[in-house]
Amino acid sequence: MSIVLEQKFMQDYIRCANDGWEWKFHERNGGNLSYRMRAEEVEACKSEFTYDQEWVSLGVTAENLANEYFVVTGSGKFFRNVILNPAANLCILRLNEKGDSYQVVWGLVEGGKPSSEFPSHVTSHSVKVAQSDDYRIIYHAHPVNIISLTFVTEIDDKALTLALWESMTECSVIFPEGVGFVRWMVPGGAEVALETKKLMEKYNVVVWEAHGLFCAGDTFDNVFGLMHTVEKAAEIRMKVLATGLPFRRAIDAQGLRDCAVRYSLNLNEDLLDE
Ligand SMILES: [Zn+2]
Repeated sequence: MSIVLEQKFMQDYIRCANDGWEWKFHERNGGNLSYRMRAEEVEACKSEFTYDQEWVSLGVTAENLANEYFVVTGSGKFFRNVILNPAANLCILRLNEKGDSYQVVWGLVEGGKPSSEFPSHVTSHSVKVAQSDDYRIIYHAHPVNIISLTFVTEIDDKALTLALWESMTECSVIFPEGVGFVRWMVPGGAEVALETKKLMEKYNVVVWEAHGLFCAGDTFDNVFGLMHTVEKAAEIRMKVLATGLPFRRAIDAQGLRDCAVRYSLNLNEDLLDE
């Protein structure tokens, strides 16, 4: 087995990708996942890296990610195939000294290029690494219920956050900062990447209208858990809405504040009603 594939970070990456497939977060080639490698992980894998592929412009610049290495899903590759053949469906790439171009150094052995959403990953990683070096992962997926919820809430951070916080008690504990909401935009370019970046300054979850969401975090457990929690709360909300009965609020602003006190949370008061 290859040295790269034996690494724990890679095993965790593959498991996360496969969990996403099994949870139906990824139809066809939908979704993408990126992991910012630690220096010791790069060192451990370097004997399998090659440095002869062309540099490709990102369309965005992230100076604070200069020379960093990332594991990224391939453009047009299917999450369901990652576990079967990681070297054909993933790549490891490095950014240049300006943080504006990348070079693939491992993987995509059957051809291809990194995810078309990689610019959104880069801008999100850039914001997050400025907050804490613990942030390692950006995960983008297309879960059914959170996408459905974007059709029935007002298009703003507050409406969507409250729809989730009110639907399941765990939500305000797991994402007390709330979620950001991006209006529908053409995916895959610098424009949506910059909108996502703005919201990643405040949140670990950014939802794209009629599209899906981005989650940021430190470990695969936490990032997958965050995605799963958002989607489950959205599922509850959509199930209640589907009954046609009015949503009876059980968790109000005071309840959210009481939870924040009990669990020592930094609850985002800007998103509360009163
Ligand atoms: Zn997408």
